[in-house]
Amino acid sequence: MLDVLIIGAGPVGLACALEIQRRGLRAAVVEKGALVNSIVGYPTNMEFFSTPELLEIGGYPFPTNHYKPLREDALDYYLRVATSEKLTLRLHEKVLSLTGEQGNFTVTTDKGEIRTRNVIVATGFYDLPNPLNVPGEDLPHVSHYYKEPYQHATQQVVVIGAKNSAAKAALQLTRAGARVTLIVRGPALSDSVKYWIRPDLVNRITEGRITAYLSTTVTAIRPGAVEVLTPDGPRMLPADFVYALTGYHPDEDLLGRLGVEPDPADEARAPLFDPATQETTRPGLFVAGTVCGGRATSRWFIENGRHHAQLIAAHLAEQRS
Ligand SMILES: Cc1cc2nc3c(=O)[nH]c(=O)nc-3n(C[C@H](O)[C@H](O)[C@H](O)COP(=O)(O)OP(=O)(O)OC[C@H]3O[C@@H](n4cnc5c(N)ncnc54)[C@H](O)[C@@H]3O)c2cc1C
Repeated sequence: MLDVLIIGAGPVGLACALEIQRRGLRAAVVEKGALVNSIVGYPTNMEFFSTPELLEIGGYPFPTNHYKPLREDALDYYLRVATSEKLTLRLHEKVLSLTGEQGNFTVTTDKGEIRTRNVIVATGFYDLPNPLNVPGEDLPHVSHYYKEPYQHATQQVVVIGAKNSAAKAALQLTRAGARVTLIVRGPALSDSVKYWIRPDLVNRITEGRITAYLSTTVTAIRPGAVEVLTPDGPRMLPADFVYALTGYHPDEDLLGRLGVEPDPADEARAPLFDPATQETTRPGLFVAGTVCGGRATSRWFIENGRHHAQLIAAHLAEQRS
C-alpha cells in the first residue's frame, strides 16, 4: 500500500512526489498522459512568462541559455528532476474514481486499482477548453489548442480570444505569413496581456497586418468562414482555420467523483481546502497546484503552486510521527 498517490504528473504533482518521498513516505504519481502532459501540449518553442528559478522544484537549479525558459527547456528540466529523484510514475493511466477513506483508499484507473493511505489531486485545468457554444465549433478546421504557425502560411486564420495565448498566437501566425483576424468579445484586450506582448500586438493591428474586431462575438463557424456580430452588425469573415483560445477549466466531474467539494461562496467553484495543509473536506484527500483555483485558472500557477508540495509533505510526515 502506498502512503500517497498523486494524481497528475505536472510540475506541481512532481514537486509533491519528491517532497513526500524525501520524508521517507512511499509515493507514486499516476498520469493519464505523458510526463508534464500540459507542457507537452503547449505551443512549440513557447516562452514561459516566469524566469527559470521560479519554475524550479525540489531545489534543482534550472539552467537555461535564455532569460525566460522555453517549453523545451521545461520538458527537459522536469524529466531530469523526475529521473534524478527516481519517482515512481504510472504514465498513460487515467484516474476514474476514488473509494474508501483515509488510511485505506482505492483509486480506480482505466488500468486497474491502486491502494493508498492518502491522495493528492494535482490535475490542473488544461484538458477541457471553455466552449464558444456556437454551431460549427466541432468542425475539423477549429481547434482550442495552438501548436505552431507554419501550416497556415498565406492562409486566412481567425483567432478568438483576448488574453496572452490569443495575442501570442496572432503575432506568431502573422510572422509566419498567415493573414490573421483577431476577435475579441470585450471592448479591449485583457488587462492580463503581458506588458511586453501588448505593444507588439497593438502595433501590428495599427499597421494593418492583423485585423482586430473588438466588442465582437462569434455566432457560428462554417467551413471557410466565421460568422460574427460586430458593433456595426453581422459579418462573415473568411477562415481557413480557426483558433478558439478562450481558456480552459478543471474537470469538475472528476473532482466530484474524487470527493473534492467546491466552495459554495466562490464563483470560480474552487475546492474547499485548508490553506495550511491543502487538505480538502474529505480527510486524507489533498489538492495542489492550479486545480486549487477552480475556474479561476490564473489564481495558482507553477510559481506559487509548487509550494503546496512542502505544506502537504510536512503535514503528512508530522501525522505519521
Ligand atoms: C501557455 C501557458 C503558459 C504558461 N506559462 C506559465 C509561466 O510562465 N509560469 C507559471 O508559473 N505558469 C505558467 N502557466 C501555467 C502553468 O503551466 C500551469 O499552472 C501548470 O501547468 C500547473 O501545474 P499543475 O501541476 O498544477 O497542473 P498541470 O501541469 O496541468 O498538470 C496536471 C496533470 O494532471 C493530469 N491529469 C488530469 N486528469 C487526470 C486523470 N483523470 N488521471 C490522471 N492524470 C490526470 C494531466 O494530464 C496533467 O499532466 C502557463 C500556462 C499556459 C497554458
